[in-house]
Amino acid sequence: MQTAVSVHFVSTNVSKCLCFRCPVQTSSQCVSNKVMEIKEALSKHPLVHEDIPGVYCGAGVATCSDIKPEYECMCGKCVIFPEYKLFNFQPMGHYCRMVAQNNIDNRKF
Ligand code: SF4
Repeated sequence: MQTAVSVHFVSTNVSKCLCFRCPVQTSSQCVSNKVMEIKEALSKHPLVHEDIPGVYCGAGVATCSDIKPEYECMCGKCVIFPEYKLFNFQPMGHYCRMVAQNNIDNRKF
């Protein structure tokens, strides 16, 4: 049985996350608004999940409702995916719409 790992919801992982240019999110006005405020969002400690439209594998599902989860997900191409061995857990992508099982208790980060 695979031991759970937590993807840390921290700025270094935000900078690696591909969610910001993922087709699921590119047409979202809500995401665009959050990206415009990303510098301020990244200055907070700890980071606030609702402020940052990414690292859903670490933070939980998206708070923006105008994303398009039926579009192709880029998580499999992200460096975070092998770094945290996310291929050992379900789901294996689309974390923006499904809470990652590896990460149930990660909101504390
Ligand atoms: S695996 Fe997906 S949700 Fe997690 S940081 Fe990478 S692109 Fe973002």
